[in-house]
Amino acid sequence: MSSKDDPIYVVRPNLPPFEEFTRAVKTAWDRRWLTNGGALHQELETALEKRFGGLQVSLFNNATIGLMAACAALDLKGEVITTPFSFIATAHSLLWNSLTPVFVDIDPHSLNIDPAKVEAAITDKTSAIMAVHCYGHPCDVEAIEAIAKKHNLKVIYDAAHAFDLECHCGNILQHGDISVLSFHATKVFNTFEGGAIVCKDPALKTRIEQFKNFGIVDDEHIGQTGLNGKMSEAHAAMGLAQLPHMDEYRKGRARVDALYRCELADVKGIKLLHSGAKTPNYAYFPVLITDECPISRDALYDLLKDHNIIARRYFYPLISDFPMYQALPSSAPDNLPIAQKASSQILCLPIYPDLSEAEQMRVINVIKEAS
Ligand SMILES: *Cc1c(COP(=O)(O)O)cnc(C)c1O
Repeated sequence: MSSKDDPIYVVRPNLPPFEEFTRAVKTAWDRRWLTNGGALHQELETALEKRFGGLQVSLFNNATIGLMAACAALDLKGEVITTPFSFIATAHSLLWNSLTPVFVDIDPHSLNIDPAKVEAAITDKTSAIMAVHCYGHPCDVEAIEAIAKKHNLKVIYDAAHAFDLECHCGNILQHGDISVLSFHATKVFNTFEGGAIVCKDPALKTRIEQFKNFGIVDDEHIGQTGLNGKMSEAHAAMGLAQLPHMDEYRKGRARVDALYRCELADVKGIKLLHSGAKTPNYAYFPVLITDECPISRDALYDLLKDHNIIARRYFYPLISDFPMYQALPSSAPDNLPIAQKASSQILCLPIYPDLSEAEQMRVINVIKEAS
């Protein structure tokens, strides 16, 4: 039984019935095959390729290594234009590839990278754009594609939030040269830890597969300075156990999303964001605590904490404000006014498929009383 004051976290992992996981993982025991592209790995990869409409999928141990592999596979050099309004792993993958992140400002409505700012930041050193479908809200993929084509740039989408997300032209993962999904415990689809690279080009997939396996081409040849990005059979078993439940998880999240929208619509100083997706995945429930709100974002965050509700200031601080990025010219706060403002106002409220209405009303009531 949950009591009145049990903690409510911003997310809680989706879990299939335990036996569905153990039944799948038992087959790895029986085969004595634990990793290196076993039968469960192949089964999950095939299931995802089918789910994504025939795109190429390469499973990874996490999205961070996947992002690093994406930069390496596309042989990027020099500067990569990216957003400061994301999780730190987005930019870290560039530094690990000796690339220079160039931060540009975001769109005030979607909080995704602003294509006009991207175009203005292109130099003769620019090799790629790394954009993020923040909160599972689609980027302006057409505008980004047009800029990339015009200037001959590669496009990587950090699609860590974008599992089962459809824009008006279909699966969001078909856009760009590469998309990188995260299957971390807190994400929409989880394999404990995990991730995947999605692309269209089978030759690119081959390079990626070699990169994630130490760069091994065959018994006698190493083609690149690869690393170990492989997903184990136990992680793949978890993915296979999750897949049949994805629709039910989505319905649960949609219900939570709808109740927040209904209850918070007219609350002064609480600005709701809209996904803009044809089929949203309800990965997060971000709100902006604007200047009209009687209490500040940080005061509301603390007040929720006093009620044992752990919301998240996601993304605060901006990536560009962390020590290893701060000195870059593009990190200057006056280059990123919209991202600075959003970062000071953003708050992600608890959302997960089995968040009960009573628990959710606890969150809503604290916000209403404070506003
Ligand atoms: C979670 C996340 C990552 C990192 O994913 P891991 O699988 O934990 O490595 C990268 N980018 C964004 C935007 C994320 O939210």
